Amino acid sequence: MTEMLFCYCCRVHHPKEEMRLFRTRQGYRWRCLRSIEAASRNHGERDAFGQQQTALNREISRRAAEHNWRLRQIAET
Ligand SMILES: [Zn+2]
Repeated sequence: MTEMLFCYCCRVHHPKEEMRLFRTRQGYRWRCLRSIEAASRNHGERDAFGQQQTALNREISRRAAEHNWRLRQIAET
């Protein structure tokens, strides 16, 4: 019988061959390869999305600063 290990990610038991020790904030936990692969894929997509959001946020705050500056110029004259 194959040894089953508890996957902290799926919260079910998988065969040991499909499991890898995965480092978490709480220490090392067993996690299945499938969930690790899925997470790393999602992570790549999320990074790209995050970078886009950062650029967008920077543009928004730049415009807001510019807008405030203009308002101040009008108020002072
Ligand atoms: Zn799993």
